[in-house]
Amino acid sequence: MNAHPRKPLASLALPLIALSGGCFLLFPAQAQPDPNWLAHDRDRPLPPVVQPGQASTPDRAGQPPSDAIVLFNGQDLSQWAAMNGNPTRWIVRDGYMECVSGSGYIRTIQNFGDCQLHLEWAAPTPAEGEGQGRGNSGVFFGRDRYEIQVLDSYQNKTYADGSAGSVYIQYPPLVNASRPPGQWQSYDIVWTAPRFDAEGKLLSPARITAFHNGVLIQNHVELTGPTGWLQRAPYSAHPEKLPIALQDHGNPVRYRNIWVRPLDKTGKPEFTLAETTLDSYTGDYLRERNDVVRVRRASDGRLSVSFSGATFLMYAESPTRFFAKTTDVTAEFNVAGSDPYVDLSVGEGAMRCKKQ
Ligand code: MG
Repeated sequence: MNAHPRKPLASLALPLIALSGGCFLLFPAQAQPDPNWLAHDRDRPLPPVVQPGQASTPDRAGQPPSDAIVLFNGQDLSQWAAMNGNPTRWIVRDGYMECVSGSGYIRTIQNFGDCQLHLEWAAPTPAEGEGQGRGNSGVFFGRDRYEIQVLDSYQNKTYADGSAGSVYIQYPPLVNASRPPGQWQSYDIVWTAPRFDAEGKLLSPARITAFHNGVLIQNHVELTGPTGWLQRAPYSAHPEKLPIALQDHGNPVRYRNIWVRPLDKTGKPEFTLAETTLDSYTGDYLRERNDVVRVRRASDGRLSVSFSGATFLMYAESPTRFFAKTTDVTAEFNVAGSDPYVDLSVGEGAMRCKKQ
């Protein structure tokens, strides 16, 4: 807790900003330190200690930092699924995973907002195809909305905003730091998710900083909206935390050593469950004699829970347990047996509601 009476510093700044009338001479456009702390304040909390990882070598994947969530350690695809949540047909072999043409994108089961992502990839060798047809895959944030291109761009000409490390269709990489096909290459990406208000209006756009093989290729670029082929689409609202995905573009691109560090540590972990799992929870559950709990799929695919005239969008924190973000409502489903039910808690009250 900050027990220091330093809040007035912050409140003093506001009228000054207002007085400046947007004049950037008074307040240059740069990040300001937290006004709640003095310079060199000995009471200011120290940063958490993290054991740094080990860098990879061409032959061996490195180690993630101690606070990273490991998404792929060369062993299995337990953190990944096909886009509908079913098991993927991508294969794991000799410490890497490989895209199987025609099997579709894969995505993480856990959702991520702002984060630092590390991954390593290798384009197929010998190189086959040309331009966008050679070693094409991609790293997506926001499920399948925002792509950083994975492409064999080693002596392979294509359009600039589609080459390796581009924010596809928007920003070419600053340089081409590609290694030859077959060699492991790294991406280190800082992702800032876009923010939307309750009405779906864009509050702040997505941003990306990225390094390719340790070389800066994207410097805090501001995305204009989703990436996509042929045209730049405008933003449309979506949850802040969504899966990270890898693209199947028909080429057997390999990945290893994938880890992520969420930068926003508040809130519960969130997951995107399989479509079949979500569908198994939909239906009507009896809460009280005249109050039915209606569980449906919302337009964006999530579960919604309605009762007593109110509707809540639900976020999965486990394969069976969901929570709302606007009100203290949780729902724990048990639909495996012959007598399916949901345990619904609302504030202090909890009730078992049988499926009708
Ligand atoms: Mg691609």
